[in-house]
Amino acid sequence: MNKQLLLLCLLIVTSISNLQAQVKDKCYTNIIREERIKNNPSLKNEIEKKENFLQNYLKTHKLEKRSEIIIPVVVHVLYFKPEENISDEQIQSQITVLNEDFGLYNKDKLTDKHAFYKYCGNSGIQFKLANVDTNGNSTKGITRTKVSKEFWKEAELEDVKFEKYGGVKNWDPKSYLNIWVINIDDSSNILGFASFPTDLTSYPDYDGLVIRHQAFGTTGTAGSDPFPETNLGRTATHEIGHWLNLFHIWGDTLCGDDMVADTEPADSANQNCPKFPHNAKNSCGSSENGEMYMNYMDYTSDACMNMFTIGQTERMKASISTYRKFILNSKGYNVATIIENDFKNNFKISPIPSNGTLQIYCNKKQLFESEITLVDLFGNHIKSFENISENTTELNCEDIPDGMYFLQLQKNNLIYSVKIIINKQ
Ligand SMILES: [Zn+2]
Repeated sequence: MNKQLLLLCLLIVTSISNLQAQVKDKCYTNIIREERIKNNPSLKNEIEKKENFLQNYLKTHKLEKRSEIIIPVVVHVLYFKPEENISDEQIQSQITVLNEDFGLYNKDKLTDKHAFYKYCGNSGIQFKLANVDTNGNSTKGITRTKVSKEFWKEAELEDVKFEKYGGVKNWDPKSYLNIWVINIDDSSNILGFASFPTDLTSYPDYDGLVIRHQAFGTTGTAGSDPFPETNLGRTATHEIGHWLNLFHIWGDTLCGDDMVADTEPADSANQNCPKFPHNAKNSCGSSENGEMYMNYMDYTSDACMNMFTIGQTERMKASISTYRKFILNSKGYNVATIIENDFKNNFKISPIPSNGTLQIYCNKKQLFESEITLVDLFGNHIKSFENISENTTELNCEDIPDGMYFLQLQKNNLIYSVKIIINKQ
C-alpha cells in the first residue's frame, strides 16, 4: 500500500470511528443496571438465574391467549416551569400511542408486503390511566408536583423517585406502572429510562419509567426543541419494553443477544431513519433483510419505529405472568360496566351521522354536570365535553376525523355508551 492510499484508509477509519462516537445513549436503562452490578456484583448472578427461569418458563408454558391485559398507569408530572406541567391531553396522547403500539393497530405498522411483517406481534397489553388510587379513592391517574430543581442532571435521575431528594415516591409498583415526566438537562441526550421486572423485589422504590417531557406523548411539548425526533411517543413504548423485560435489539454489546429469537442480529444501535434493508448479512449473522431497525427496542427516530416481534410480545407476557404477576390483580383500574346504547334512554342525540355538531338533549337531571367523552372503537380517549348543564347541549366535533365513535358518559361506576358516526362531507 502506498503512502497516499494508507492516508486515505486512515481517514476513512477515523471518520467511521467518529461516526460511531456520535451514537450517544438516549436510553439510560442499561447504564443504571451496569452501575448497580458494579456496586453489587452478586446481582449479576441473580439476573442470570432469573433469565434462565424465564427462558424455561417460555419453553414450558404455552402462553394462553389473554384477550387483554390492562395495566393501570399513574403519571407523575414534576415541573419547574409552567410549560413543563404538561396537559392532560398530552398525557392522554401518550396512553393512546401505547395502546396502538402494544395492540398492533399503530397506523404506521408494516404492510404484508414487508419482509418483517410476519414477525409483528400484538401483545394484547393495554394501558389505562388509573381511576382508583392506593387508598381506594377515585383519581385521574395523574399527580402534579412543582419541584425546586430547574432540571435533573444525568447523575441525579434516580432522585426523581424520592421525596428526600425533591422527587415524588412511586405508587405501589405491584399495582401500578409509575411514569415520571420530568425536565432532564438539555445538554444530555437521555430521553428516558426504565426498571426491569427482575429488579422489582430488590428495588421496589425504583420501579417505573422516567421520561423527559419533550419525549412524552404527541401533543404539547412533545418533539419540542432540541428533540424534534421524539414527537410520536415512542420513548415510552421503548421504555415499557424494558419495564416488561426486553433488552435492546443489539444486546447492549457488539453483536449482543437480546434473548429473543425472532429479532435479527444487530451489531450496535441504529439511529435516525435507515433504509430497508439495512446492514444486510452483517458480521453478526443478519439475513438478507438486514437489521430490524424499525423495532421499538432500537434507537431510531420515533417516525421510523413501528413494531415489537411476536417473540418480544411473548417475553413481555411471560414477564407479566411471573415477575409482574401482582399487576394482574391490581385494583388501580376499575372497569366500569358499559351499558351500550342505554344512552338513548336518557339522551336524544341528533343528527346521526353528525355533520360536525351534535345536539344532545338530556332528560335526566342527575346526569347534569357530567363529563361526556368521545372514544374511538378501541376505547381510546378522543375528546371530552365537560359540564352538561343545560337540557340541550351542543357538542362541536368539527376537529374530529370522520369515522365511527362511541359517546360515553360515566356516572357511579356505570358507563352509558352509544355509537355515533361523524361524517362531515
Ligand atoms: Zn432502552
